[in-house]
Amino acid sequence: IKKGRVRVNEVLVKDSSRAIQAADRVTVDGEVVNYAEFQYYVLNKPAGYLSATEDKHGQLTVMDLLTPELPHYADLAPVGRLDQDTTGLLLITNDGQLAHHLLQPKFHVTKTYRARVSGIVDDELIHLFEVGVKLSDFTTQPAGLEIVERNQSANESEVLVTIAEGKYHQVKRMLGVFNHDVVDLQRVAFGPLQLDESLEEGEYRALTADELAALK
Ligand code: URA
Repeated sequence: IKKGRVRVNEVLVKDSSRAIQAADRVTVDGEVVNYAEFQYYVLNKPAGYLSATEDKHGQLTVMDLLTPELPHYADLAPVGRLDQDTTGLLLITNDGQLAHHLLQPKFHVTKTYRARVSGIVDDELIHLFEVGVKLSDFTTQPAGLEIVERNQSANESEVLVTIAEGKYHQVKRMLGVFNHDVVDLQRVAFGPLQLDESLEEGEYRALTADELAALK
């Protein structure tokens, strides 16, 4: 402020006691640095990171992938969980209310996973997923299954699974019922959000205004 780099609504401010309102446009060296209560990021999660804010055993968490200089860093948290070995789209925010809303089963936010599995997936599975899969402790809601590839020589298949819940190990368990072990699991969609293919694993970016509007 003393160096004359700060402007409020285009007017140079030299007094650091100057109060500002939420609607004021604050710039430093011409760059807008308005205070925003909530931050929203999409991360392309790599394998090996826990979907948690901290781990008492000192394992790496997704928070280790974010720079601590981000606004509200200490209040940021992943929305829901991906297994440690699962990769792909993870929303991270300090907007607890939105996170709570998105995770409520009654809102049926769908999640789509690309899974590479052992064995050749039969067409019949499409129908079996559609009616819900009986697991040991519950029957899933109807789920989508799309067969992307059957690789006879590797005895592996690639499928897209869309679920409306998010129970522990759900996709692995659903495919496991049919003896398809999941070799690789990547989340490619979360509600209206699609995995941004331009993000390398470990990279993240702020949600765009359109993405945020679609989520709310
Ligand atoms: N289902 C799983 O089995 N694992 C995940 O990480 C997400 C969904």
